[in-house]
Amino acid sequence: MDFIKIKKLKKIDFYPKFCLIIHMKHPDDFEDTKDLSIYVYDIIKNISLTHSLRKTNPELYNFFFCLFQRHPEKEKKEVSLITDISIRKFPGAKKIVIEHRDKQFVIIKSNGSEDSISWIKCVHKTVFTKNKHLNMAFRYAIKDQIRAFKNDNKNKPCELCKTYNNLTADHVIQFYKLKNDFLLENPICPDEFTEDKFGSVIFRREDVKFVKAWQEYHRKNAVLRILCSPCNDNLDEYHPEKKKLRKILQIKLN
Ligand SMILES: [Zn+2]
Repeated sequence: MDFIKIKKLKKIDFYPKFCLIIHMKHPDDFEDTKDLSIYVYDIIKNISLTHSLRKTNPELYNFFFCLFQRHPEKEKKEVSLITDISIRKFPGAKKIVIEHRDKQFVIIKSNGSEDSISWIKCVHKTVFTKNKHLNMAFRYAIKDQIRAFKNDNKNKPCELCKTYNNLTADHVIQFYKLKNDFLLENPICPDEFTEDKFGSVIFRREDVKFVKAWQEYHRKNAVLRILCSPCNDNLDEYHPEKKKLRKILQIKLN
């Protein structure tokens, strides 16, 4: 029985425990980090809290041992010294029903020390800076508006080259400008983030007021248009076409 079959069973609720998994994949089997994210997320969703993953589920222990070897700061984290993994409730999680985001991985090392570890960093092999996190969370917060705009304009071609392939929504007034202008008005900005089920960086629930204010600001001020990916990639702030358009639109907005 392989993981794919098990996943199908899971959908009809005949898959209560991970001990059914006989052939787990290795983290390096995935070419795409998004696929790896989904795979790990599925595991974490179902995994129980444990003091010793090595004892409760050796196969999962092996999987996470390999995953943690991908940590972008593996020397500092001393992941080669891992002798066990414990899965605990995050200190801040007060809920009775534990969700995936409430589970904290702690590595136990042969030198006797313990350290928490982020599976997201191990999936992506990257340490994101706070600023990058902030950008990602800002973008994530307006995802629904972008989706709605694309939906409302789904019969339109690229505004520049008229193709119907690889269409995206482009911010005519650049996204970073909108974000920075918003931050000037709302300088008290969250600097802690969380992740959605696919590992995307998002604002935390307690920052909902800030998120709502940003969504409202974006709804009022963003000017979007349909562009294909190549046109979008070729336009930068120095591109005359974009500069001209932006000027016209900014005059209109002012
Ligand atoms: Zn185009």
